[in-house]
Amino acid sequence: MTKLVVEDLAKTYGDPAEGGVEAIRGISFDVREGEFVCIVGPSGGGKTTLLRCLCALHGRSGGRIELDGRDVTEPPPEIAAVFQDYSRSLMPWFTVRRNVELPLKNTVKDAKERAERVEWSLREVGLAGMGDRYPWQLSGGMQQRVAIARAVAYRPEILIMDEPFASVDAQTRAGLEDLTLAVRDDVGAAVLLVTHDIDEAVYLADRVVVLSSRPATVMEIVEIDLPRPRDQLDTKALPRFAEYRKHILELIRATSGPDPVAGPDPLTPVHGWEPT
Ligand code: ADP
Ligand code: MG
Repeated sequence: MTKLVVEDLAKTYGDPAEGGVEAIRGISFDVREGEFVCIVGPSGGGKTTLLRCLCALHGRSGGRIELDGRDVTEPPPEIAAVFQDYSRSLMPWFTVRRNVELPLKNTVKDAKERAERVEWSLREVGLAGMGDRYPWQLSGGMQQRVAIARAVAYRPEILIMDEPFASVDAQTRAGLEDLTLAVRDDVGAAVLLVTHDIDEAVYLADRVVVLSSRPATVMEIVEIDLPRPRDQLDTKALPRFAEYRKHILELIRATSGPDPVAGPDPLTPVHGWEPT
């Protein structure tokens, strides 16, 4: 069953006649129920813009967004979002528990049920017993787990994540990827995750939407036919994993120029691949 349909979506910031920024153009794809879709594309290309349009955090310049067949014109209650910068997304003066509980105040009226939801989602992300801590008492990876717990507590039908693991170290990142896969299985939500990391996209996704540089258009939608459950070592050692990776890398190279593997030449200012 199709959950979300995006058709011919366009967004230009400001007045096109006065040098407005055309961020995305003619974007079409869909997300099926419970599906894991990753979006990759060059930095500054329009990925965050696309996600903001989907959450109706700002308007669009053209195109159609439909969730369960309904036009999306205001932030849909079925969607929860996790962004890159955990340090700004959590309230430092609230405990972990209150942070997770906050978005539930309006949707879950019964206090006992709300408390149960919070404890369940903290358990889900491996933070059982951490409810009384404050965000600043936790490591970066743990703070991002709180942000994921908050989104999951809400029981969204679609979980939207914008480069959610970009600010943590590689080890923590692998753990958070697997956590997200497990949460997806438990909660049954579809996940739409933006990343600049091609390995991460292939590892997580059922399908990868490859975007061009700005204005972002869909270059290709790659079906990832790798067995589940995925495993950080075994999955990444499969020949097919390497083939997907190479194919997507070639697409990205063709659109963005600089080599995302070697990284930008430090002497040349390149707006190609740093996460934003
Ligand atoms: P990405 O997430 O792929 O790095 P963004 O969607 O953040 O890309 O940005 C795409 C383009 O739109 C960039 O050139 C950026 O400077 C521009 N942009 C983003 N937000 C705004 C805004 N609120 N007003 C004007 N331009 C913006
Ligand atoms: Mg972005």
